[in-house]
Order: sequence, then structure tokens, then C-alpha cells
Amino acid sequence: MGKLLRGSSKNARFFIVDTKDVVQEALDIHKCSPTAIKAFGRLLTGTIMMGTTLKGNDLLTVRTNTDGLLKQMLVTTDASGDVKGYLSTPEVDLEVKEGETPKVGDLIGKGTLTVIKDMGLKKPYVGVSQIVSGEIGEDIAYYYYTSEQTPSVVVLGVSLGPDMRVKNAGGYMIQLLPGATESFITKLEAKVKAMRPMTELLAGGMSLKRIAKLLYEDMEIDSEIALVEDYNIYEEKKVSYRCNCNKDRFHKGLATIQREEIEEIFTEKPELEVECHFCGKKYSFSKEELLGE
Ligand SMILES: [Zn+2]
Repeated sequence: MGKLLRGSSKNARFFIVDTKDVVQEALDIHKCSPTAIKAFGRLLTGTIMMGTTLKGNDLLTVRTNTDGLLKQMLVTTDASGDVKGYLSTPEVDLEVKEGETPKVGDLIGKGTLTVIKDMGLKKPYVGVSQIVSGEIGEDIAYYYYTSEQTPSVVVLGVSLGPDMRVKNAGGYMIQLLPGATESFITKLEAKVKAMRPMTELLAGGMSLKRIAKLLYEDMEIDSEIALVEDYNIYEEKKVSYRCNCNKDRFHKGLATIQREEIEEIFTEKPELEVECHFCGKKYSFSKEELLGE
């Protein structure tokens, strides 16, 4: 089970998440290549943080459409902290010289990041921004800056062990609040640059609370009066990879197929099998079930 911590201070709000179990579950389901799971794991991690303020039946979906080998990823999350997703080509990876590590951005390429927020209104909110580096963290930050005018720092990481299982995964996101002071922004930029990668912090056994403390350590925003930015933690919650599919839902989806098409499908085989993109579960339907006979 992954964990998320959420809090804020006068100048910013922050989200910190440990998603090792979430990304491992995704890897088990989708059988991704090493670089693909780093990309997908980062998107899962980022989306969880983006969805933290969802309420009730709200849904948030983040999709990438790019010209790299990894053409499309889609991740969706809800208010409970559950996340699920799929990717177009989980098996692809880059060929690099021995000793080199393929870059996530090279597998993704250029394209767009689309954010869809379904808050139960007539039309969902849709925001589209360009992929800037394909490293996902920067792309989400760019989305927030251009589409929501919210300056953000998004740091994401997934590391694998020699056994190709997920060793560590997680991230943090810091968003400036309206009226954030220049001095805080300068300190924050320097702090983020000085921070070790998220996967290293987690590998060192650091708790999420400790990482929050680290982010705010030495954040003296007024040196004359030695004013340090105080922060509060509002919420700690569990996050997990979970799919809520069931046969009934697929049945409803198949109800749009025309009778002739159904007849056609069943001339070749006795059952129609459908597979859930998100979790790989298979459901089979007989002709009678689909025709309601
Ligand atoms: Zn499913």
C-alpha cells in the first residue's frame, strides 16, 4: 500500500508520496520494460498527487500522446486515492550502449499531456499542454504553469532493483500559493536543486514526514528576524493501484453493439471475451447474454 502526505505553509502547499507498491502492482499487471515502467510509474505517482484534492465521485485522468516508442499512457485516479492506468506499448524499450541508462524522455518523445477533470458537471474540464522533456515531472509542472497558472515543482522517481522489481518509487509536488514571496521562491528553488533524488531519499529509509521536514529545513524567509516558514500536515492517506471493473460494467459497454454485429461475432466463436485495459481481468459473454435472451 502506498502512502501520501499533504500539507501547506504560508507560501506553498505540498504533496509527498511513496508509490513503491502502486508501481509494482502496475508492473505485475502490464509487464512493462524497465524504461516503460519508469515512465508509467512516474505518471501514476504524479497523477496521485494531482488527484489529492478530488471529492466525492470526481475523477482525474492524465494522458500522454507522443511520437516516441511509448505512444500513449493513460492514468486515472479518484478521491479515495485509488489509481489505475494503461499504456499503449508496455514492452518497448530503448537500445543504449552498455553501462548507459535509457532516458524516460527519449522513450516518450514529443507530444501532448492532457488532463481531464470530471467533477460531475455537464462537461468535464480538459486542459492540454505540450510535453517539454518527456521526463513527466517537468511536463506536469509545465501543465500547471500554462493551464492553471500555478507555479509548481514536481519531482518523480522510480528505481528498479537488479531483479527488475520496483526498488523505490515516489515523488513530491510543491505548488506556490497566490502571493508567495520572492524570497521564499528563491529559497525553494535552491532547496529543490540541492535535494537528492526522491528514490535515494526513500532508499535511505526516510519517512514522508521526514522528507517534508527536509523540504522546509533552513527555509529562512526573512534572515533579519530569522523567520522560518512553518508548515502543517493536513492529511495522510493510503494510495493503491486498484481497478473497480466488473462484468456488469462491461455488459453495459457492449450494449451499444448492433444485433447483426453480435450475430457475426458469434458465428466464429461461442463466447466473446473482453479484457480490462486497467487490470487485465477477462470477462466472457455468451450470445444470449448480449442479446438479452
Ligand atoms: Zn479492471
